[in-house]
Parts: sequence; structure tokens; C-alpha cells
Amino acid sequence: MTECLFCKIINKDISSSIVFEDDDVLAINDINPQAPVHILLMPKRHLTNLEDVEESDLNLLGYIQFRAREIARQVGLDGHYRVMTNCGEKAGQRVFHLHYHLMGGKEMD
Ligand code: AMP
Ligand code: ZN
Repeated sequence: MTECLFCKIINKDISSSIVFEDDDVLAINDINPQAPVHILLMPKRHLTNLEDVEESDLNLLGYIQFRAREIARQVGLDGHYRVMTNCGEKAGQRVFHLHYHLMGGKEMD
């Protein structure tokens, strides 16, 4: 059984506030939002972070960005939002399952 928090969320072993789901990607509301909109998008397949990504994953990465844009539109961010991923502990990664933060709804430096 996996010890990965986000794999447990993807498998529905832990509940979350789901914003979007399909075969490849899950998007949930961040439990500790840093902006009025703070959504996490993650591939359902476990990848640790960008360091784990291979050339065969490029479609998946592009799709996640496209999906982030679609969700941003759906929640009314109106073309102003941040999409970012932390890679590695020193960069602030705390959950070691690749995920992208979609944030918006306020002025951000
Ligand atoms: P990072 O620091 O980039 O690894 O981001 C991890 C994010 O996961 C943080 O913004 C946390 O608030 C968020 N988080 C941790 N546990 C949960 C959870 N159970 N449900 C939703 N978001 C979570
Ligand atoms: Zn995982």
C-alpha cells in the first residue's frame, strides 16, 4: 500500500474537495489555501516531481497546463493566475507527488 498522500487522495482512501477529475488528472482544493483560489492539479500516475518526468510524459505535462487554464476560466480567474510547481525539498516541496498549484483571485507579487 502506498504511503504517498496524494496517491491516497487519488485512490479515495483520503477525502478531498475535488474540482476536476478524469482518467489522467485530479484537481483538488488546497487544504491550506494561500489565495482565494488555490487548486492543486496532479497526474493520477505517481511521479515524484519534475525530476521524475521523462520525454514520454510531455503530453501529460502539457495537458495539466491546459487543464489548469480551463479550470482557471471555470472558476472565473479571468486570465490572471499563477501556475507553479515546487521541485525538491529546498524549493519548498512538501508532498512528493508531482502537483501544480493554480492560484489566483488576489494581487500576487
Ligand atoms: P508543496 O509544498 O508544493 O509540496 O505543496 C503541497 C500542498 O499540499 C500544500 O499547499 C498543502 O497545503 C497541500 N495539502 C497538504 N495536504 C493536503 C490535503 N490533504 N488536501 C489538500 N491539500 C493538501
Ligand atoms: Zn503519489
